[in-house]
Amino acid sequence: MQPIFDGHNDTLLRLWLHNDRDGRLFLDGDEGGHIDLPRARAGGMAGGFFAIYPPANKDIHLDNDDGAVCDEPPIGPVDSSWARVVTFEMAAILLRMCAARPDAIRLCRCVTDIEQAQAAGAIAAIMHIEGAEAIGPDLGELEVLYAAGLRSIGPVWSRPNIFGTGVPFSFPAGPEQGTGLTDAGKALVKRCDELGVLVDLSHMNAQGFRDIARLSTKPLVATHSNVHALSNSSRNLMDWQLDAIRDSGGVAGLNYAVPFLREDGRQTSDTPLTTMIRHLDYLLERLGEGGVALGSDFDGALIPAEIGDVSGLPALVGAMRQAGYGDALVDRICRGNWLDVLRRTIG
Ligand code: ZN
Repeated sequence: MQPIFDGHNDTLLRLWLHNDRDGRLFLDGDEGGHIDLPRARAGGMAGGFFAIYPPANKDIHLDNDDGAVCDEPPIGPVDSSWARVVTFEMAAILLRMCAARPDAIRLCRCVTDIEQAQAAGAIAAIMHIEGAEAIGPDLGELEVLYAAGLRSIGPVWSRPNIFGTGVPFSFPAGPEQGTGLTDAGKALVKRCDELGVLVDLSHMNAQGFRDIARLSTKPLVATHSNVHALSNSSRNLMDWQLDAIRDSGGVAGLNYAVPFLREDGRQTSDTPLTTMIRHLDYLLERLGEGGVALGSDFDGALIPAEIGDVSGLPALVGAMRQAGYGDALVDRICRGNWLDVLRRTIG
């Protein structure tokens, strides 16, 4: 089976929402949401970015399959004290799972760690923060989280914070919404570059994207974003953003969230795999074979019914093969390109 390293999941959010501090639902398998260990193994998931996302509250509905267009009003800031508590709680879930079951899941701080985890048959987990509200302006929490194994940060989720402004979920709309990085945001990007922490552009607005492209010495990465030319969501990447990612030697990960795949922006799981292949084709043409990867958004979004959950990944691989992608290209998209860009960012 084709192994898959995935650019984004919200499984820690799902566990946290269930007050599952030890990650039993993941380790034992609960058939809920999109990812648990038995289904990950069945689908060939070899590892990925495990996002820590601090929501404003616990009232979250991810999978409304109601056909509505994903077009929401701007989302306000989240309280940073609350976000700090939630961020550390979710990090603790990941750390407890990795400590309890190194045969099942391992926290990886570098590509060598990933390769060793995969050789041992364990899921290779990169600790990622989506929305860095837990980090204050002097960046002290970044040092603590780095020491705990954090290797990837999206400075903003789709809301403003002390570092910058995220793109809202609007449709049809582009990412030119709001101001760029603050001075604290620029300091955060600089420190991430020094430490070897990947800076994720997926929820960044256009001006923040430009600021990071100018400031960062590392490849530009959007872990879970699609093509704006094919689906006019503000969450998707414009051609100029894809060109900047290509020029930096970076990567974009295909997001399985249906409103960011579909031309009509609608929340419906009745979305064919060929729609995903159209985005992959476009990304390949724009970024080249080294710039395209996967970023599922499992446990954080409504996804195509033909995939269903992580155990359905072979269906996506099958669609790639049916579209004429050869074995080498399939392996780069599914795994190799993430490892390659991680080698050049976190080491
Ligand atoms: Zn996201």
